[in-house]
Amino acid sequence: MKDCNCIFCKIAGGEIPSATLYEDEEFRVILDLNPASKGHSLILPKEHYANLFEIPEDVLGRAAGVAKKIGAKLLEGLHATGLNVLQNNGVSSGQTVFHFHMHLIPRYDGDALGLAWKPGKLTEADRDEILGIF
Ligand code: 5GP
Ligand code: ZN
Repeated sequence: MKDCNCIFCKIAGGEIPSATLYEDEEFRVILDLNPASKGHSLILPKEHYANLFEIPEDVLGRAAGVAKKIGAKLLEGLHATGLNVLQNNGVSSGQTVFHFHMHLIPRYDGDALGLAWKPGKLTEADRDEILGIF
């Protein structure tokens, strides 16, 4: 189902033009307008799913296939040396557009992209609490 107020529905459906790297009946891959690195791209399903918890597993699996195919092409064509695949869910994770998308972020040796975090230490209390959920 499409959401008529959703910018990524309009882009994925071709209603709003975009720099498209790849398109099939189910997905469109576009260049991010505010790239973290050269080649930063977004995989958009043409159907509207707000996030990881809404997208069906089979569609997600095919999105992963697109990530492999387009990610490899970006790496080779741009002579990148690494690739981050990111996907945000919820405001606190950094999600700003509430239509599922996967970021493909090419990385270059020595680039200063701030995607890393300061590693913490797993406490026994956290470990036990988390294991208790499963
Ligand atoms: P999020 O933070 O939701 O994971 O990522 C949204 C991404 O979409 C951001 O990287 C942002 O730069 C990109 N973006 C937002 N609006 C547009 C747009 O209209 N066109 C394109 N190409 N990218 C967009
Ligand atoms: Zn949408």
